[in-house]
Amino acid sequence: MTHQDVLRRLQEGNRRFVADSAIYPRLTSDRREELRSQGQDPIATVIACSDSRVPVEHIFDKGMGDLFTIRVAGNIAGSTQIGTVEFSLSALGVPLIVVLGHDDCGAVKASVDEVEASGHLLRLIRVIHPVTEMVRHEYPNLSREELIPRVINENVFLTIESLITGSNMIAEAVRKKKVRIVGAVFDIASGKVTWMGDHPDQRAFLKQKKLPLRYRIGRHSSVEEDIVE
Ligand SMILES: [Zn+2]
Repeated sequence: MTHQDVLRRLQEGNRRFVADSAIYPRLTSDRREELRSQGQDPIATVIACSDSRVPVEHIFDKGMGDLFTIRVAGNIAGSTQIGTVEFSLSALGVPLIVVLGHDDCGAVKASVDEVEASGHLLRLIRVIHPVTEMVRHEYPNLSREELIPRVINENVFLTIESLITGSNMIAEAVRKKKVRIVGAVFDIASGKVTWMGDHPDQRAFLKQKKLPLRYRIGRHSSVEEDIVE
């Protein structure tokens, strides 16, 4: 299946979900037995937020074995998420990766509101901080309510950037067109997924042949530092 085919199937499933006409496919005992005996062959990898209002399979009206899903607060990509995506490419050969943000995201709001946090939660929120700062810098007159959706969108692009610049393996797969990475944002109330397409700077990322991981850490993230050292 090509990435266009997969994208179309995800869009069709989301249309059913939005229209309250979901068919809840491939959840029967037959499907379970088939998957156990033949193994998995998911059509896409999805990085989404852990928020309970973002149930990925339901949103796309998909069943067991359809989606290889990573859920983490703020749909960020640290080393373990990047490693999971690498697995989905090398072992499962998925043709499409979707980074799915959503409105009213608590992790993004925590970054925008600079809420007090400590420990690992602080590290997680700090991954989003550079995006928040960048959007604030670009649009100094935005209210909080206007700022949050923009940070949500840019945070999706940051995750795509982290996947490409943080993994030579993923970058190579994108370069060879074995996989496409697209951004999307889920609207909780309507259930609708808005597609954002490729990262606007994807070409620039791909031109840099071998990006050291440090480059990315310096720019964006403090989460990886512990793992790298
Ligand atoms: Zn969220």
